[in-house]
Amino acid sequence: MESLNKITISTGALRHNFAVCRHYARDVDIIAMVKADAYGHGMIECARVFVEEGAAALCVAEVVEGIKLREAGFTVPVFILAGIIPQTAQAAVENNLTPVVVDNVALWELNDHAQKAGKEIDIHVKMDAGMGRQGTLAEETVALIKEIDDYSSLNTKGVLAHFPMADDRDSSNSDHVLATFSNTARQIKEEIPHPCRYHLANSGGLFYVRGSQFDMVRPGISLYGCYPDGESGRHAAVASRLEPAMCFTTRVIQVRNVGAGIGLGYGHSFFTTRPTTVAVLPVGYEDGYLRKLSNLAQVLVNGHRAPVIGRISMNLTLIDATDVGPVNVGEEVVLMGPQGTDKITADDIAGWMDTINYEVLCLFGHMNDRGFTD
Ligand SMILES: *Cc1c(COP(=O)(O)O)cnc(C)c1O
Repeated sequence: MESLNKITISTGALRHNFAVCRHYARDVDIIAMVKADAYGHGMIECARVFVEEGAAALCVAEVVEGIKLREAGFTVPVFILAGIIPQTAQAAVENNLTPVVVDNVALWELNDHAQKAGKEIDIHVKMDAGMGRQGTLAEETVALIKEIDDYSSLNTKGVLAHFPMADDRDSSNSDHVLATFSNTARQIKEEIPHPCRYHLANSGGLFYVRGSQFDMVRPGISLYGCYPDGESGRHAAVASRLEPAMCFTTRVIQVRNVGAGIGLGYGHSFFTTRPTTVAVLPVGYEDGYLRKLSNLAQVLVNGHRAPVIGRISMNLTLIDATDVGPVNVGEEVVLMGPQGTDKITADDIAGWMDTINYEVLCLFGHMNDRGFTD
């Protein structure tokens, strides 16, 4: 039986968003970011859609995720962004995953396991071109590539970096990162005899930083239908708009009529000021509908917005259904997504939760049962 709280993913929206990214990518290869269970949308299902649409590669954070993709039958290159350490080297090699290497810590193990398996392993090197998080410093990148290429079974096939603020169209930071990356790429081309493929752009880079395409691009959030800068990105979008792929729905489980002056729920954080129709929803913070949304969020019922009233508890949320017309038990309620002519976006939720759309999608997607529609 299906849960009353349900995440529904539109594969049509995923396909549409891939096409939008391909348009911005021009002719370069797309690496589809499916880390974090495809930002909560379901890694295997989303990877299948993106590969069908022409993704040249997939990218996840850890080796265990890459293994799941291999077990599901994917044969495209799978990049592993984080956690290539001596302990994970063997599994990376056995599963033909493409390590993104940030230093020389696991090179010996990668090479050793590759030799034993009679394989050669492609490596991409992650440079810190200004992100300040992970990677090898720009000025140390050539030395690291030389060190990798000294191992007989390891071949450096690519170099990447990551933008720290490509979502901010007003910042000059991305120009600096782009310049550092380009300059280092030039230096690598002079000093390393074999070709490498270069990639830098996340969604923000793809949409907002001219000339950041290089040989491949790595969109994530945009594939799922959100802009890296949230609602302002959606408003500014000139080309075809991204379509949110995730909806979150529940159903009314009780309808109550209460008088004025009644305290509702834990802590009585809300008092009715009029005779009120209260609809009870079986959703709470255990479903990712965080307590932070108490007395802030809105939902859609009968195509109208209804406010969340009182404190969200573990499994229950109350809404004021007085002004939305007749509401019955079993009625569908949209927590995120469209209904009628209105919609609640991940950016709306993010605003109420004091976070970003990325976190909302991961949270809702991870905490609830998922289904897929065309
Ligand atoms: C997550 C990630 C991306 C995708 O970023 P979005 O903002 O979701 O497009 C690209 N590159 C790297 C290295 C990442 O970690």
